[in-house]
Amino acid sequence: MLELSLASWTALAGVLGLAVGSFLNVVILRLPERMAAGWRQEAREILELEIDPAPLPPGIVHEPSHCPHCKHPLSALDNIPLFGWLLLRGRCRYCKTKISIQYPLVELLSGVLSAVVVWKFGPSWHALAGLVLTWTLIALSGIDLRTQLLPDQLTLPLLWLGLLLALLPMFVDAPSAIVGAAIGYLSLWSVYWLFKLLTGKEGMGYGDFKLLAALGAWMGPVALLPMILLSSLIGALVGGGLIMLRRHRREIPMPFGPFIAAAGWVWLVAGHELLQGYMHMTGMR
Ligand SMILES: [Zn+2]
Repeated sequence: MLELSLASWTALAGVLGLAVGSFLNVVILRLPERMAAGWRQEAREILELEIDPAPLPPGIVHEPSHCPHCKHPLSALDNIPLFGWLLLRGRCRYCKTKISIQYPLVELLSGVLSAVVVWKFGPSWHALAGLVLTWTLIALSGIDLRTQLLPDQLTLPLLWLGLLLALLPMFVDAPSAIVGAAIGYLSLWSVYWLFKLLTGKEGMGYGDFKLLAALGAWMGPVALLPMILLSSLIGALVGGGLIMLRRHRREIPMPFGPFIAAAGWVWLVAGHELLQGYMHMTGMR
């Protein structure tokens, strides 16, 4: 198996990424629904109200996929990542309702990013870990864009996994991972409180701190400042672009999680090169 060329591995990773992208779509839609239902139940228990008889929303793996509008189950053909959507031209085969562009976009993104990760690391444990990180970051970004939440169910396991991988070590050693996680959390936490004390507004949420802590565990403290700068840069470019195109009003808070996730992913695949380029540019070497 290892005899395959890097190009074949990259292509395989792309196909795998497309398929995983379909699953990520389900996670992005259903995880927040299930979280909200859980909170409603807890709130009713605390308020000593009767337990809500409404059934919980569908589970993430158990329910087969169906059209969200007419509930018609999807055929195997319609379910093919990306191509299913293209074949149907973005409409349900049965009720002709438009299918959100989110589905093919997440699948395409997952396919392309997975291919890049395997291209970068080759067939290795690093690639496998990188894929898990990539897929989790896509799910987190999608959920944050839709609901302004970064669920603990994803950020905390990502943090633990980063710490555990550092025992091998994988991308960084254990001391770097521990310090990276702590500084990652505290750096955004301090910015949050400073901003809140000065302006009385909240610019970020605790999910953002946990996400940066997780990325600190994966990539070490050295990566934190570049990741913060990179996420602010990507955020400013996207935010500025949206405001210019009048697609986004200034007062509406924009989720910061997708930008942290994007910066973390860029650092995963090109951190070394970026650092080299920066040192070269500033004449530090
Ligand atoms: Zn339908």
